[in-house]
Amino acid sequence: MTETDTSALMEITSRPPIVFTEGRGSWLTDSAGKRYLDFVQGWAVNCLGHSPKPIVEALARQAARLINCSPAYFNEPMARLASLIATASGLEQVFFTNSGAEANEGAIKLARKWGSIHRAGAFEIITMEHGFHGRTLATMAASGKPGWDKLFEPKVPGFPKVPLNDIAALERAIGPKTVAVMLEPIQGEAGVYEASDAFLRDLRGLATERGILLILDEIQTGMGRTGRLFGFEHAGIAPDIMTLGKGLGGGVPLGALVAKRDVMCFAHGDQGGTFNGNPLMTAVGCAVMEEVAKPGFLARVTENGVYLAERLAELSRVHGCGVVRGRGLLLALDLKRPIGPALVERARAQGLLINAPRPDALRFMPALTVSRAEIDRMIEILGGVLAEVGAPALAK
Ligand SMILES: *Cc1c(COP(=O)(O)O)cnc(C)c1O
Repeated sequence: MTETDTSALMEITSRPPIVFTEGRGSWLTDSAGKRYLDFVQGWAVNCLGHSPKPIVEALARQAARLINCSPAYFNEPMARLASLIATASGLEQVFFTNSGAEANEGAIKLARKWGSIHRAGAFEIITMEHGFHGRTLATMAASGKPGWDKLFEPKVPGFPKVPLNDIAALERAIGPKTVAVMLEPIQGEAGVYEASDAFLRDLRGLATERGILLILDEIQTGMGRTGRLFGFEHAGIAPDIMTLGKGLGGGVPLGALVAKRDVMCFAHGDQGGTFNGNPLMTAVGCAVMEEVAKPGFLARVTENGVYLAERLAELSRVHGCGVVRGRGLLLALDLKRPIGPALVERARAQGLLINAPRPDALRFMPALTVSRAEIDRMIEILGGVLAEVGAPALAK
């Protein structure tokens, strides 16, 4: 139990009675001194692990120089990070945000503006069932999370849904009001379900043919998470608009709306925000981009992703679970029974943090710098916990 008084905090979710005080690499320490191996990493955010040297140094250096200077003026890190992202993605224009949801709001606004100019006021954005795009009113409407369709009525209109990987349904959904299609290369929150490379390629072709925009939400899949800098690279396509968040800041609040030059049609005053592009956060973004771009970094993510997937598949065979889904270091294990929450709780007691995005699946999103030894340790703890929690269910 913690001695920290948490009663003034709005209870927006059920939290365990632990207060974390320190983090280093793949490890967290709580106020009682207990250590935890972290395979959640702030929800795939801390791509370089906890308090990594490049981020600590970038923060300290930039804080001593310039923390904030109004988005009405240029600053150096903001310009540098925009160039780095533009060069790496092939999309030429960048607007910085403070969260993923805000980047997606920007993408929705940009697509609607583009539709008002180029497609006779078309404003509908086709999104995927079970997709997740954030928690603002528009991004909740764009999401296909079961249960959210009834929340916070009335909904922001204009987000018809189709099933993921169903190109025929998507083609049928395109009408005169359609301005764009928006999806995640891998549905992370839904439980790690991939848009197939073939679907993404068909979608790219279809969007071009019908004159609508392709928006990819790379907030969870971007910044090397799948073994490529951006998830879309696996399919060999490029979107018209992309959003980044999570890993881009490596732990600090930073997102980005990225668009092709000929799609960027914001006029002065259409988009902005007090903290957007502030030098402190964008300096961190530069440090993250430089680390991920180092020779061998992404190859190691791929290798460790394959290794983690193999070890999870072994566990699955032993404990009667299902398939391993995902790519790189964004993986899920199908449990085939609703023991996810029990496993998460037991694992935490054993000093391992994992996530169950749905009751019958576990999600793994370690630091991209995770070591083989740490993967082995995670598998060892999870194996023990599965034996405890899973065995009675199997015996039935
Ligand atoms: C986390 C996430 C978001 C929302 O980002 P926030 O920073 O929480 O607003 C949007 N889309 C995807 C795919 C995400 O994983």
